[in-house]
Amino acid sequence: MTTATAGVYVHLPFCPYICPYCDFAKWAWDDARAARYLAALHAEIAQAVPVEAATLFFGGGTPTTYDAAAIGALIAAVRARTQLPDDAEITVEANPDPSLWARLGALRAVGVNRLSIGVQSFEGAELRVLGRRHAPADVTRAVAAARGAGFENVSLDLIFGVPGQTEAAWERSLDHALALKPEHLSCYGLTIEAGTPYAIWYAREPAAFADDTLEARLYAIAIARLAAAGFEQYEISNWARPGFRCRHNAGYWRNDPYLGLGVGSASYLGGTRSVHTRELDTYIDAALAGVPIPGEAERLEGAAQSGEAIMLALRTAEGVDTTAFRERYGIDVLETYGSVVDVLVAGGMLVAGSDSLHLTERGRFVANDVCGAFLAV
Ligand code: SF4
Repeated sequence: MTTATAGVYVHLPFCPYICPYCDFAKWAWDDARAARYLAALHAEIAQAVPVEAATLFFGGGTPTTYDAAAIGALIAAVRARTQLPDDAEITVEANPDPSLWARLGALRAVGVNRLSIGVQSFEGAELRVLGRRHAPADVTRAVAAARGAGFENVSLDLIFGVPGQTEAAWERSLDHALALKPEHLSCYGLTIEAGTPYAIWYAREPAAFADDTLEARLYAIAIARLAAAGFEQYEISNWARPGFRCRHNAGYWRNDPYLGLGVGSASYLGGTRSVHTRELDTYIDAALAGVPIPGEAERLEGAAQSGEAIMLALRTAEGVDTTAFRERYGIDVLETYGSVVDVLVAGGMLVAGSDSLHLTERGRFVANDVCGAFLAV
């Protein structure tokens, strides 16, 4: 099996409550189910493909619904299976609610060294619209507690395009976030996901949601504000102070292998992309029985593989290194994708240098369409 260096992702799907816009694989916390799930995860880790891990990322759900001892035991299990280096980046996503603050010291002590806090907004009204139960002041307390616990790498997640959000309110949220001096910021445009309460609301009242023009203005505000504050926009939705890019996510954008563990998680190993079932009990039963986790798999080869790699790389500030791409995939990007590149360059979305391809600022605003064009070839 593969021994290439990989990012390891562990999905912890329980949340203290469920947000109406969320499409992740998540369930409200339940003691018995959460305990069975943890046992299933350990069973899956013990049987997982023995990759050599570079980074570890706990996402969810709300991983911090589990206590630090449980997360520490998972880190130890992953380390035993994957040779995760002692100094590897280990991220945990967290909600800034008061139950988190006292746990941060223990989380740091079990080896977590990067905290990604789901802030979403510093405006009370927006948090209520998003169904979040923390208050803006809770975030300030959470960041202070994280610093006190020894975290030197803190990321804050924000959402723009929240129903009712104005440009002034978005600027206030950004300024509030910057005042907390995080090392990293992620700013995501709100997306309406099918099957969520937000999708029902949107179908009934589309005017309540930001249109493309407002969303673009909000994104432009983030780009300008964060650049002025010394942050580098190293990916479409991600900004970091120098030296604090998320190493785990950088692996995804480089199209490096990754191993996903847990319900609904995705893996990309040896050229095959696979996704575990999103049915919680199906996952738990299979993992505990030691049988393959149901799900889907597809082998990425030829145009599917190179299109995907271009799409991922274009999300980053560096874009596609066409020389390295030729060495890795045996494809001359400008030759194979010449017609797509020409159209996008003519449209001001893409810059094609002698050995690179990257989005223009304009291209970043419609990145999904631009990147997706390479998948269609
Ligand atoms: S947005 Fe986060 S906290 Fe809310 S339900 Fe989804 S995973 Fe849970």
